[in-house]
Amino acid sequence: MLILLRENTNPSQIAELQSFFRTLGQENFLVHHPEAILAPNNYVLPDLNRFSFISEIKSISTPYKLSSKLFRTTTSFDVNGILIGSKYANIIAGPCSIETEEQIFSIAEFLHQKNIKFIRGGAFKPRTSPYSFRGLGTKGLKLIREAANKYELSVVTELMDLSLLDEVLEYSDIIQIGSRNMANFYMLSELGKINKPILLKRGMQANVTEWLLAADYILSGGNEKVILCERGIRSFDNLSRNVMDIGVIPLIQSLSHLPVFADPSHGTGNSKFVNQMAMAAMVAGANGLLVEIHPDPSKALSDGDQALNFKQFELLLNGIDNLQTAIQKPIDATYSLAIQ
Ligand code: PEP
Ligand code: MN
Repeated sequence: MLILLRENTNPSQIAELQSFFRTLGQENFLVHHPEAILAPNNYVLPDLNRFSFISEIKSISTPYKLSSKLFRTTTSFDVNGILIGSKYANIIAGPCSIETEEQIFSIAEFLHQKNIKFIRGGAFKPRTSPYSFRGLGTKGLKLIREAANKYELSVVTELMDLSLLDEVLEYSDIIQIGSRNMANFYMLSELGKINKPILLKRGMQANVTEWLLAADYILSGGNEKVILCERGIRSFDNLSRNVMDIGVIPLIQSLSHLPVFADPSHGTGNSKFVNQMAMAAMVAGANGLLVEIHPDPSKALSDGDQALNFKQFELLLNGIDNLQTAIQKPIDATYSLAIQ
């Protein structure tokens, strides 16, 4: 049950309501959302008329509450002048890992030429093998920030551990939580306390309810800027890296107000299939894409098999432009439909 508060409800009024519930033996007030307080679903509410700052009491039957469409119908927010979760298609592109100054600057320059607004790149990489390249660490964060500043891009980078939060906050505009950390609940609730958008990838084993509950961990801390990102789930098939779940995009949109992106790079694991799946995701209604690109994928230090080279990425942009009649979502606000 969600108790919705009127706009301008102040912290002392919220505290008053919380202490009222506490006197009734109800301690379940985990929500720090500016607009809502959570009461247990099975709780018979006492008379709350005296709290004039309560606007509505909603019963939300699903396990997830704040990410539910019953709580709110849509969410969109601004990142450095670009609207996310709106009528535009947001494109985030960049390497799996930041490797060298030359690599990240050449990618940033290319994205700028293509009028793309978001660059991605990992500095602390979750690698299956401890012997694989695990990223440049802080040096990588600094490089992607410098490249982004030079070419007017926003930075998306993965946070692997809370001990790195301050650093990642300093150098990023959107924090990515990877598939492996989707169920790191302690970390998610800490991210609820910050005011930076979180791109929450789907856990490779997670069902939709688990994924939306993970989003609720962030939302219930008060951070309302959450983007969901489908990146494929594990299956028995050893010929594809993951099974990219296109059907989950309209499903999520029927259940949740949060923007949904798709990552066809990890979703397929193969650059040959990335463009088709990117278009499929956009037709299915995705709000945006996250795509791995590299100036020379054969030399990439991580995820080279799935990285697009610049030419292939241009084809992807062309493909999305060609879909405009169907999807009606031009790429980012200032994007020109004519790709040179
Ligand atoms: C990545 O984006 O490079 C990454 C590691 O993604 P995921 O968490 O989806 O595997
Ligand atoms: Mn990757």
